[in-house]
Amino acid sequence: MDDMQNKSEEYWKEKLTPKQYKVMRLSATEPPFTGEYYATFDNGVYKCAGCGETLFSSDTKYDAGCGWPSFWNAIGDGKLELKDDNSFGMHRIEVLCSKCGGHLGHLFDDGPGDKGGKRYCINSTSLNFEKK
Ligand SMILES: [Zn+2]
Repeated sequence: MDDMQNKSEEYWKEKLTPKQYKVMRLSATEPPFTGEYYATFDNGVYKCAGCGETLFSSDTKYDAGCGWPSFWNAIGDGKLELKDDNSFGMHRIEVLCSKCGGHLGHLFDDGPGDKGGKRYCINSTSLNFEKK
């Protein structure tokens, strides 16, 4: 089995663009309203830019007005790994791809109330959109 969790930094530097490497491996955040997908509402699926795993569907994407792609849920169970993140003097929940460990974004509790109240705030850089 291809173990995506134990790839070397060299592997990722080669596979990812410098921008993707910064976000996915060094947990950087792209500036708001600059990413490729924050205003994309076509039908399709969003795949992990690191390993190609399907993570989100356009069915759960919504406009949170924050400048990053926002979803109220992942496409299935077990796709995402959540981790406590206390960087920058705040407590946030980091969202990672459970297959390759790539940083995707953060999870907040200000999502749409009728959908469970979650907002997965994800960097466009970490995703590849595949239109249906
Ligand atoms: Zn991945």
